[in-house]
Amino acid sequence: MASDDMRIASGRWHPPGSSRSEPAVLLAKSLTLVVRLEGHVGDPVSVNDLARAEISARVGRIPRRISFADGSLFETEDNDAVDLWLNRHGQAGFVHELERFHPRLLGVVLAIFLLAGLIYRFAVPALVEVAVLVTPPAVTQWMASGTLLTLDKAIFSESKLLQSRQTEIRAAFDQVAAVSSRGRQGYNLNFRAGGVIGPNAFALPDGTLVITDELIELADGDLDMIIGVLAHEIGHVEREHSLRQLYRAAGMAGLIMLIAGDVGSAGEDILTNGAALMSLSHSRGAENEADRISVELMAKAGRDPRAIGRFFARLEEKLPAGGDASFLSTHPGTAERRQAIDDHARTIVGMPGT
Ligand SMILES: [Zn+2]
Repeated sequence: MASDDMRIASGRWHPPGSSRSEPAVLLAKSLTLVVRLEGHVGDPVSVNDLARAEISARVGRIPRRISFADGSLFETEDNDAVDLWLNRHGQAGFVHELERFHPRLLGVVLAIFLLAGLIYRFAVPALVEVAVLVTPPAVTQWMASGTLLTLDKAIFSESKLLQSRQTEIRAAFDQVAAVSSRGRQGYNLNFRAGGVIGPNAFALPDGTLVITDELIELADGDLDMIIGVLAHEIGHVEREHSLRQLYRAAGMAGLIMLIAGDVGSAGEDILTNGAALMSLSHSRGAENEADRISVELMAKAGRDPRAIGRFFARLEEKLPAGGDASFLSTHPGTAERRQAIDDHARTIVGMPGT
């Protein structure tokens, strides 16, 4: 034991986050406060910077509480000893200084939150746009293959769709993909059995599309409905909605990290974890954009431009509302959407040559 430790008072020590307490003694070593358990030699249970410790004000005979930065707490009834030590070491003034400091500290905290808010509002969207622009195809492919692998392990199983049906859907899909700006080569359609996510379809940022058997079944033989949904997913890829969404989420994780200190590997998880991707639904604006692209591509390919609207109606009619991870939960607002889809289809069909 270091002999230059100065004894302040004896009392009880509460470990961080625990209501348990043990007899202990509070010692000081210049500006460091040290707590040792009574009768224990060896390492102290708590070593703290005085500047970061909070000493409660003296109120009658109420035991003084000294809260340490590590979350532990020392309590003593020996108020006189604490005051004596504080006065003798000129620390009472120092503690008051800290108390007067508080309004300014509050100001600093508010400023940090304001700054974080501004970053979120302005800098993150700008950075997201830049990131989307400079992301090389190899990176989106890496994200997509990681995501699909995760989903295949956790959720999906092999499609039970007849080969002939797959070929038929693929052929129709190719026609629509061919009139999109990425062209047929820009897309890779995958069939899967959806497991817990049921009727669903989604697009990964590199143009990997997945459609589940359950969604195909729901369309009940209406090929245009299926292709309309896939065209909607093409819309998400063309406008890079998923990539933006992922970067926004990763940016959020970064901001939280900045404020809270640490969120582990959340950023990386968001970029490669399928479950995270699935839980990110697009904004209403992005959904409307994807709907319009579906209408346009379907019309261009000579298919029913209103098919995506009919599909949403079918979804709402067949699936119990809300709750699950279905396509409906990430694509809400059927009535308004159908109206917008029909309106857009009317303008498209009304314009010759499109
Ligand atoms: Zn969508």
